[in-house]
This record gives sequence, structure tokens and C-alpha cells, in this order.
Amino acid sequence: MYSREIVDEALKPRALGWTRQRIASTCGVSQRAVSRWLNETRRNSRAEADRTTYCPRRSDGALREEAYAYVLGTYLSDGHIVEIRHKPGLHTLSVFYDKKYPQLIAYCQVAMESVLPVKACRVKRPGCIEIKSYSKHWTCVFPQHGSGKKHERPILLQPWRQRIVKEHSEALIRGLMHSDGCRTINRTAKRRPDGAVEYHEYPRYHFTNVSTDIIGVFTHALDRLGIAWRVHVDKREPRGRDAHIVSISRKDAVAVMERVVGPKY
Ligand SMILES: [Zn+2]
Repeated sequence: MYSREIVDEALKPRALGWTRQRIASTCGVSQRAVSRWLNETRRNSRAEADRTTYCPRRSDGALREEAYAYVLGTYLSDGHIVEIRHKPGLHTLSVFYDKKYPQLIAYCQVAMESVLPVKACRVKRPGCIEIKSYSKHWTCVFPQHGSGKKHERPILLQPWRQRIVKEHSEALIRGLMHSDGCRTINRTAKRRPDGAVEYHEYPRYHFTNVSTDIIGVFTHALDRLGIAWRVHVDKREPRGRDAHIVSISRKDAVAVMERVVGPKY
């Protein structure tokens, strides 16, 4: 079941002449569901009302902390929260994944739906997929501090969020790496005394961000897991923002990253 807000949002493109099929595939729902929404045969059950008013931060709620740490990681790397115009209090949380990683997209969608019990939909964008979820409670779990771009304002984690981040460092690192990180393979060749060439391959991890606060959140999590890292600043970033690149290349550190993150697919 979908909340009234999601149904209403999903039906907006109908006014632009979108077909049922297009609405269904964009939102990741069946055409039958769209037909039902259009024909207004869908009833607002009590269960649905309970679900849309459910808040994981209120006394009756329970936040799924591991999923939350993961979603926080993806949100910090490449996500945003926007209030829907003319719908006070209703927000969308959007995160963006490269479209070549369908399994990561599915993973993130499940994580978002675990944090708040509303359906997350997928929107096709050039080169990427936006995973989007509507709720009045995204700002309860992701309190907003000021307006403007996330990378240009300080990232403040309240004590309750700091505790979750500390207890779920692995999930946080996974979320950050899945959206803004990369895993590369280095190859070396060495000639043995008998003339044969021996090839070695070893993975490395990189994480890039322009916000020193976000780099701090990432490197503190690495420190908690004992993962060695180095950072360098790339001055070539356009618009005067320097990119900070964290590299993880030491063998023992990479071994932990292989377990926690692994290849993207
Ligand atoms: Zn709430």
C-alpha cells in the first residue's frame, strides 16, 4: 500500500500526458496499481493511516539503526531532502546511484524502506537512478540545519546520531562508499629469475568529497575499524572547490574494506 501523498505525486505526470505504463515503470509499481489510483477505487485503510503517521523518532517508534547508518552514508555523499511545494511538512529524500549498479540500487531502496515504512520509488535520470521516498518524517530522522547545499554547510550530528554512527561504522562506510566511493584494481608485473612474468592484482579504495566535514565522518569511521587511510587534495576541481580524496591501499586495510564494502555491482 502506498500513502496518499505518494499516490498524488505519482499521478501528477498524468496531467502531462504520461501513459499508465510510463508512470508505472518510473515509480516501480504495477500498471494495475496506477489504474486503481486513477479510478479512485483505492481506500484509505486504518493501517495506512497508522503507517503514514508512524515516526521512528517518537516514543512509539523504533529506528532501525543499521539501515539508518547506511542511508545516512548515501545521503551525506550524494543525497538531498526537499520539501514538497504546497504540501507543508511533506519531504522527499533522494539519493543517486550510477545506473550501472542495479544491485546497489535495490540494496539502498530496501534500506530506505527499512528506515521509514513507505515505498521508495526509482526515477530514471541521465546516467543515474534517483531513489526517492516521500514522508513527513524524513526531517525527524535527518534534521536539517539551515538551507543551501549540504556540502557548503556544517554537518552536525546530534548525540543520538553520533551514537548510531559509532555503533554501525561498517554500515555507514558502506553507504558512503556505495555512492561516492570507488574500488579500482592495480596490476603489477614482475619477471621471475626463470624469465616468466608474474602478475599481481590488488584492489584499492578511494572516496572523494568536497566537504571536509563529510571527509571527517568517513575517516573517523575508518579509524574506529582500524583501517589505515591517506588523504590528498585535488586542486583541479572546477568552481574553486577542492576535492578531498581519501585512499585506502595498505594490504590489511584493503582486506577489511573487501569484507565491509567489496566490489560494486
Ligand atoms: Zn516524525
